[in-house]
Amino acid sequence: MNIVVVGTGYVGLVTGVSLAEIGHSVTCVDIDRQKIEKMRKGISPIYEPGLSELMKKNIQANRLYFTTSHSEAFLKANIIYIAVGTPENEDGSANLSYIEEVAYSIAENIVRDTIVVTKSTVPVGTNRKIEEIILQNLVHDVRVEIVSNPEFLKEGTAIYDSFHGDRIVIGTNKEETARIMEKVNEPFGIPVYKTSIESAEMIKYASNAFLATKISFINEISNICERVKANIEEVAVGMGLDTRIGSQFLKAGIGYGGSCFPKDTKALIQIAGNVHYDFELLKGVVNVNKKQQVLLMSKLKHIYPNLNGLRVGVLGLAFKPNTDDMREAPSLLVIKDLIANGAEVLAYDPIAIENAKRLLPPQVIYVDSVLEAIESCDATLLLTEWDEIRQMDVSLFHKMKKPIVIDGRNCFSLEIMKENDIEYHSIGRPSINENVRETLIMLQSDSAILVDEEKAGEGSCQLKVKQ
Ligand code: NAD
Repeated sequence: MNIVVVGTGYVGLVTGVSLAEIGHSVTCVDIDRQKIEKMRKGISPIYEPGLSELMKKNIQANRLYFTTSHSEAFLKANIIYIAVGTPENEDGSANLSYIEEVAYSIAENIVRDTIVVTKSTVPVGTNRKIEEIILQNLVHDVRVEIVSNPEFLKEGTAIYDSFHGDRIVIGTNKEETARIMEKVNEPFGIPVYKTSIESAEMIKYASNAFLATKISFINEISNICERVKANIEEVAVGMGLDTRIGSQFLKAGIGYGGSCFPKDTKALIQIAGNVHYDFELLKGVVNVNKKQQVLLMSKLKHIYPNLNGLRVGVLGLAFKPNTDDMREAPSLLVIKDLIANGAEVLAYDPIAIENAKRLLPPQVIYVDSVLEAIESCDATLLLTEWDEIRQMDVSLFHKMKKPIVIDGRNCFSLEIMKENDIEYHSIGRPSINENVRETLIMLQSDSAILVDEEKAGEGSCQLKVKQ
């Protein structure tokens, strides 16, 4: 099959490379000329384990091509995958302008019967709109079939997920088109689930909203654990042993981030609102996440009421390990707050520093190692659980001015931190320094966090901390 993938971001490039790896001839198109130049040389513009190797291999095997020209790419295409971004509008809805642009370009440029497959996450009804745009603007007399094929890969394990996913969802109303898509995907050996277009679109949003709910739920439980001296790690294991619950996505932390959960939860609230349905539960999930993202700052502010002039080491910037993606990373909120309060910030991340520089205030000092970030600091905040950070020698914290560590990812065991005489505050676990900060949790609960429920679906943070 001659396949074209439009958009070479985290989803498009991984999709293109994986389809080439199973034997298809794939042309990836992007409007970003610099990206295309890089990829032609076999250099991946994003960090994703295993991606560069597979990319080079398939370029050499003449199965993988890159271009900025839609018309050139579409000339021989049997199937066109749309994998452009659907970022968040100011009101929380999905911005479909990139999708629409591609639909117009397909209408103008295709010269043969084509299957158009949407990989991007789009609200229910969007594939119908894509079909309408294409059919109303077709230049050549050709047939077009539409398929919704949402993507479930996870950044950091995207290549693995492409070959070991739990399911491939194919949403189309034509049995023949479904059969062709099954054949295209057959070499992946992943179960295919065929649905209507609308159901496929909804499966993606419902899945992400459910996972986000699991995260907000366990974070709420962790906050109660802190107050009743239970340990969230034990609670999560005990819950996860129940197969109806399952052990995944029960890790308490500083809230979800990244390019999908924040925008997809808000978009689903909008999708529901558009049909006059108030998705109360999901508003709560969004709200809880906003509270959770500022939890470390309130712990730090309790220890140091005045952050002005304080030196703070930040370990980890990416929204999760094994990616350079900084979109909606909790570190953005935390570091901006630190700088706004006059703290000096030394930040370390193994991969994401270049992307972080584009989004963080210029005052942030970026360093090349964990040690440089924490040396002579008044406090260390741990924001991303990279292996390198989880496995570090914790005695290094004694190089700080004071060994005070506030860990948003529960990277270290309480026993090890106690043995090493480190003041350690984590998420949902009993304090090991009761004498030092006995009142920390109680005071946190006193400073009620007010979040405007009505605005939970909106992009801006409505959070106010009552003093
Ligand atoms: P991204 O921002 O990383 O990449 C989008 C790419 O599309 C960019 O390279 C951009 O230059 C390109 N582009 C924009 N307009 C174009 C056009 N007219 N022609 C060609 N290229 C164009 O986005 P992403 O993270 O890969 O996400 C893509 C979609 O997949 C979104 O809808 C997202 O919600 C969904 N998704 C993302 C993930 C994820 O983990 N990132 C997972 C599942 C689904």
